Amino acid sequence: MAQLAYQRALLKISGEALAGSAGAAGIDFAVIDRLTDELKQVAKTGVQLGLVVGGGNIVRGATASDKGMDRVSADYMGMLATVINALALQDILEKKGLDTRVMSAIRMEELAEPYIRRRAVRHLEKGRIVIFAGGTGNPYFSTDTAAVLRALEIEARVILKATNVDGVYTADPKKDPKARFLAELTFQEALVNGYAVMDANAFGLCKENRLPIVVFNINQPGATARVLAGERVGTIVQ
Ligand code: UDP
Repeated sequence: MAQLAYQRALLKISGEALAGSAGAAGIDFAVIDRLTDELKQVAKTGVQLGLVVGGGNIVRGATASDKGMDRVSADYMGMLATVINALALQDILEKKGLDTRVMSAIRMEELAEPYIRRRAVRHLEKGRIVIFAGGTGNPYFSTDTAAVLRALEIEARVILKATNVDGVYTADPKKDPKARFLAELTFQEALVNGYAVMDANAFGLCKENRLPIVVFNINQPGATARVLAGERVGTIVQ
């Protein structure tokens, strides 16, 4: 078994990452299939893994509110979207033989456990993958913030931000050929240079609590397990 660099970790998967070729409004089951294969590899290493899943592939509060919806209602719709994604992930993970629990910040006991910190930690200790759904349970927040919050609460040693790019660049590599990849940077450097690692709330929480963030490309086979083994994959902000 590979040596673990982090015993307990929290992986943030955006809704967009689940959309794949389904575009901005759905779940691509081929993507979930690949992703859950990755998570199966990770589980084999013995790492205790929590997942926070976004909902942007179904509803984004700010966008719905721009179109005329009340912001708070729109945000609750966004939080419900994360539950839909969580159930899809749970189903496929369990079909692959992994033990999981969905814990929701918004109570809906027919389909998910309510989020209770001590119970979440107990699940992790028993080797279950805990999928945290419903964001923080509060409007005006994001699932990035929920991810950092849960990571701090369960005392994860690192937060892994799964994206579709290799990590942090000095500029958008798709638009600027001079964009440089950054393997490592401090919280301060990210802040001063305005590198968008996470939204400002989430980033501030990490900085204040010295929780390292690894931004990496989830589409690279084996990347998640390699990050957790301590290999230099993606960008580490610490
Ligand atoms: N949301 C919220 N509070 C939270 C987390 C999420 O109100 O604590 C809402 C918000 O409207 C957001 C939507 O849920 O736009 C989906 O989450 P997010 O945009 O963070 O998902 P991602 O971008 O990761 O897919």
